[in-house]
Amino acid sequence: MLENTAATSIGGSLTSHQRIAAGLTAALLGMFMLFGVGFAHSDVVHNTAHDTRHAFTFPCH
Ligand SMILES: [Zn+2]
Repeated sequence: MLENTAATSIGGSLTSHQRIAAGLTAALLGMFMLFGVGFAHSDVVHNTAHDTRHAFTFPCH
């Protein structure tokens, strides 16, 4: 029961539309981190995204 308290107290005050919007926002942000930043021209930003991909064992090369 302890693991349900956080999700219940947060999710209980949201409508299903708000939950979907939050999920889509998180997904878009994640896609931007994986692909948008990964193809950035800045080497520092690119390497950071690249290292993050490898940290999550995302296949990239
Ligand atoms: Zn790589």
